[in-house]
Amino acid sequence: VHLDRIAETDEAIHAFLHVDTDGALAAAAAADERRAAAESRGPLDGVPLALKDVLTQRGVPTTAGSRILEGWRPPYSATVTQRLVDAGLVILGKTNMDEFAMGSSTENSGYGPTHNPWDLTKIPGGSGGGSAAALAARQAPLAIGTDTGGSIRQPGAVTGTVGVKPTYGGTSRYGLIALASSLDTPGPCARTVLDTALLHEVIAGHDPRDATSIDAPVPAVVEAARNGDVTGMRIGVVRELGGEGYAPGVQSKFTQTVALLESLGAEVIEVSCPNFVHALAAYYLVLPAECSSNLARFDAMRYGLRVGDDGVRSAEEVMNLTREAGFGDEVKRRIILGTYALSAGYYDAYYGSAQKVRTLIKNDFDAAFDTVDVLVSPTAPTTAFNLGERVDDPLAMYLNDLCTIPANLAGVSAGSFPVGVSADDGLPVGFQVMAPAMADDRLYTVGAALE
Ligand code: GLN
Repeated sequence: VHLDRIAETDEAIHAFLHVDTDGALAAAAAADERRAAAESRGPLDGVPLALKDVLTQRGVPTTAGSRILEGWRPPYSATVTQRLVDAGLVILGKTNMDEFAMGSSTENSGYGPTHNPWDLTKIPGGSGGGSAAALAARQAPLAIGTDTGGSIRQPGAVTGTVGVKPTYGGTSRYGLIALASSLDTPGPCARTVLDTALLHEVIAGHDPRDATSIDAPVPAVVEAARNGDVTGMRIGVVRELGGEGYAPGVQSKFTQTVALLESLGAEVIEVSCPNFVHALAAYYLVLPAECSSNLARFDAMRYGLRVGDDGVRSAEEVMNLTREAGFGDEVKRRIILGTYALSAGYYDAYYGSAQKVRTLIKNDFDAAFDTVDVLVSPTAPTTAFNLGERVDDPLAMYLNDLCTIPANLAGVSAGSFPVGVSADDGLPVGFQVMAPAMADDRLYTVGAALE
C-alpha cells in the first residue's frame, strides 16, 4: 500500500531519493511469515518506514543528498538501521535531505528539493525534509531523521508531524555520515506521539561502536507517551525564544498551547536563558569547524564520484576537480568558514570562543532545570516559507534554527509536536519541548497531553 502511495505521489513531492521496492517487499513478506508463525519481533514488526539518506544501509545507495556520493553502496549498515531491521521494520527507501544535512529547507539537496505536501510551493523544512514530507503525505507511517541543529524538529513543525531529537549519545552515530560529530543525533519521526515513542525505543540505547554513546537504560518513552499526565509538571517558557520576529500566527498558537497545558494541571513559569541569544553564532562556528574536518574524507579515492582521473592528472588535481564538482555551494561555504575558524591565529578567537559560549548555554539549561521540568518554545519562528525564497540568503536560512540550536549545543533532549495551523496562512505550527539529558520521557508526556 505504501509503495503504491509513493508511486502515486512522489513525482510531485520528491520525498525519496531511492525506493527499495525489492528489499521492502522481501522484508514485508518475512514479517508476514513471522506473524503467521506467531513469532513477531515486537510492536513495529512489519511496519514500513522511511530512512533519511544520511544513514547507511548495507547494499542500498546512500548519498547524504550529495552528488559526491552518487552511486555509492555502503558495505555496512548503521547501528540505527540494523536495529530497525532486527525489530522487523520494513525500510521503504532513502529520503531526500539537504546535502550532508546542511540546511533548513531541503533545497540544498544535490538531487532537487522536496515539496511540502500541505502546499507544494512551500519548503518541507530541512535538512530532513524528505522524511517529514513522507509522513505528511502518508507515504510512510514512521521515519528516521537526524538532528544537528534542528533537522528533525523544524521539518516536523512545518509538516504537522512529530519529531524528537533524543539526548546526544542516546542514539548511536555509528554509520551516520557525519556533519558535526559533537552535535549529530539520529531520532524518530511519526504522525503520532505513541508511534514516535515506539520507534524511539527501537533505535535508542548503548552502542559500543560509538565512543560518545551513553551506557544507561533508555528513558521510559513509551510509558510516557501512553500516560500524558502533566499534572504538577513545571513548564518553563523561555523568555528569549519568542515575541518579536516571530510570525503572529506562530506566536498565538504557542500562547494557546501553553494555556492548554496550564488548564491540564501544569504549572507555567517564565524562565530566562540569557545566553541562548548567542547560540546561533556559536553553532555556525562549531558546525563548520567540525564539518570541514569530517568532509575531508571525500577525497575522490575512497567513495563515489571521481572526476578527471585520466591517468595523467595528479591525485591532488583529481581530488580538487571532484570536490569542485561534487559539493554544492552551501557545503563549500561551510568548509571555507570552518577551515578559517580553525586556522592558526584565529582558533582562539573563533572556535575557542564558540566553545565557551557552548558552556554558557549548557549552564543556562542546568540552571533552568533546577526550577522547571521542561522548557518550551515555538519550534521555528515561522511556518513553511516559499521554495526559493531564502536560497540566496544564507543568513535568513540560518535564522530558522534560532529555537532548535540551543538543545544541540547542550546535548539535551528536545521534540517538536504539532499544535494545529497558523491563523496567518493555514499552515502547521510546531511546539518545542526541551528536557534534561536522559529525561527524554518528559517530552513524550507533554506531547501526549497535547494530542
Ligand atoms: N539547519 C541546520 C543547519 O543547516 C540544521 C542542520 C541539521 O540539524 N542537520 O545546520
